[in-house]
Amino acid sequence: MVKSQAERVNLDALLRQRLERQRSAALWRRRVVLEAPQRAETVIDGRPMLNFCSNDYLGLAADPRLVAAGQRALEEWGSGAGASALVCGQLRPHQQLEEALAAWTGRPRALLFSSGYLANLGVLTTLLGRGDQLLQDRLNHASLLDGGRLSGARMQRFRHGEVADLERRLQRASTGACLVAVDGVFSMDGDRAPLVELAAAARRHRAWLMVDDAHGLGVLGPEGAGSVADSGLSVEEVPVLMGTLGKALGGAGAFVAGSETLIDALTQFARTAIYTTAMPPATAATALVALALAREEGWRRQQLAEHIDFFRAGAAQLGLPLLPSDTAIQPLMLGSSEAVLAASAALARRGLWVAAIRPPTVPEGTARLRIVLTAGHDRAQVQQLLDALAEVVPA
Ligand SMILES: *Cc1c(COP(=O)(O)O)cnc(C)c1O
Repeated sequence: MVKSQAERVNLDALLRQRLERQRSAALWRRRVVLEAPQRAETVIDGRPMLNFCSNDYLGLAADPRLVAAGQRALEEWGSGAGASALVCGQLRPHQQLEEALAAWTGRPRALLFSSGYLANLGVLTTLLGRGDQLLQDRLNHASLLDGGRLSGARMQRFRHGEVADLERRLQRASTGACLVAVDGVFSMDGDRAPLVELAAAARRHRAWLMVDDAHGLGVLGPEGAGSVADSGLSVEEVPVLMGTLGKALGGAGAFVAGSETLIDALTQFARTAIYTTAMPPATAATALVALALAREEGWRRQQLAEHIDFFRAGAAQLGLPLLPSDTAIQPLMLGSSEAVLAASAALARRGLWVAAIRPPTVPEGTARLRIVLTAGHDRAQVQQLLDALAEVVPA
């Protein structure tokens, strides 16, 4: 039925309805304004706050050496990249960063993207199309889901971390390319994908394995080379490795590492690299220094590991409902969106900033506090968090 133009819904009225539903379901998302850098101690709405929110796992985001590297690069290379690297040329800092990322992750080559979101869209739309199959862990990051949709491939989600469920689906998968994609460390749960078993299953069924290591890079493995290196998996076993520069490396951007052929193909075909401006050269130069520090300063990973042990032991004593995670991401499951908002607000009143994570970021009924520990915290701050949780979270 053709409606007359006069019958069209008013845009504002329509959006207000949706916003009202969001608010009444306790799903309203609020952006607070930080008045100090992203580090363990920050300032929000004029109040000093302890920050247990950010993905700055190594405490590098506000490191003076990164700041200095960025300032030098701004002077040398200017502000913008000018265009996509294919149009205007690759600036030297981008080239150096790609080489350093390839060397770090033990892959022949790497290609930069402006963000992890774009990297995942670029990979999935390049490698897959109609008639192909994409198998994803149910808890994969939203960018992998969106990339899968955009690719046109048939997409199935297997049960979180369950290789047997994946295998059943691999057996039924038809001809055509088949890609298995997982987060190396799951962003809202903090647990790790069983990469060795996944790689074996993928190999048995001639499927390709892609690992999104946004939360493993810098944190896990020898010299922080990530969860794939930690599992000792080769480029044949994990042909597609994605990592981000905005989390443990404290900057912004992302990359895909793999074979010469993979990187050539992405350079030719990945629309999210071709049709977007390259990251600013100062961002690349800063990431290069962050990468070196992440490799060399193993004490940061040591510090983080000690915080994780200390926090988990304390939380167990308090009987807090922590999820099983041995990474920097320590989610405390509260269930309802209302409960998690109330806990987050109560922590904020005590000067602690912890994100309330609600659907659709996590499944219905699994709202949680996503506590993040970093190398930038000290022991006393972690104790302060435990003390506050003891008051705020019903045992
Ligand atoms: C953060 C994140 C991304 C997106 O990376 P950005 O660089 O922030 O766009 C992709 N995958 C996972 C698992 C992430 O946590």
